[in-house]
Amino acid sequence: MLFPFAAAIDSGLAVAAGLGLAAGGFAYASRWPASRVFGRALTAPARPGELALTFDDGPNPAWTPKLLDILAAHSVQATFFLLGGFASSQPDLVRRIAAEGHLLGNHSWSHPDLSRTPAHRIREELARTSDALQQIAGAPIRYFRPPYGARRPVVFRIARELQLTPVLWNAMTTDWSEPFAEKITARLAHKIDRLTQARRAVNIVLHDGGHRALGTNREPSIQAAQRLIARYNQTHAFVTLNAWSA
Ligand SMILES: [Zn+2]
Repeated sequence: MLFPFAAAIDSGLAVAAGLGLAAGGFAYASRWPASRVFGRALTAPARPGELALTFDDGPNPAWTPKLLDILAAHSVQATFFLLGGFASSQPDLVRRIAAEGHLLGNHSWSHPDLSRTPAHRIREELARTSDALQQIAGAPIRYFRPPYGARRPVVFRIARELQLTPVLWNAMTTDWSEPFAEKITARLAHKIDRLTQARRAVNIVLHDGGHRALGTNREPSIQAAQRLIARYNQTHAFVTLNAWSA
């Protein structure tokens, strides 16, 4: 059978079928952020001029505090997709993120590839993280971004059962491996300008942490965030994802 997930087919099918849903199609459907084959997710609405800065793989005691200082200095609110394992070891930092008006999201407990994780473990990764974040910050968690953007239908089904809206993105570059903030900034600015011209809001991914270890150096990503804020603060509105609530 060419496509085994009939229940999840929606408008993404035409695209996926056009690409040929064999092995390559599976990779497309399970990872490409624009693919809707495996269920709908929030990317960005038709609200040109709105930018959502989102930060994945934190909290990171080495860099998240500096990022929070930058955001506060410019009165910009962002969305943080936190790893439950890191968050549980950094409760004060998680509370600071929430107290400064940023939105907390669930990025799983330990950053597995959920397109290859058994359903019972997916549920454990997501539920444990939401519970921990809620206990620490005192507010329910409503947004979830799958690690690597990797998913299959059961991932989004479990997320929705846990009252989590799945979130992907429409502007990302390899900030985790790029040493020059200027390059990260230029690549993202190009995407922001193109999406703004196309009358879309922009859901920007940067990384304030690294999922392999607490304390990963994220100076280029944090500098890029600062530069993007300086570049767009006069012309665009920075929003958190609940402004686009699905
Ligand atoms: Zn991640």
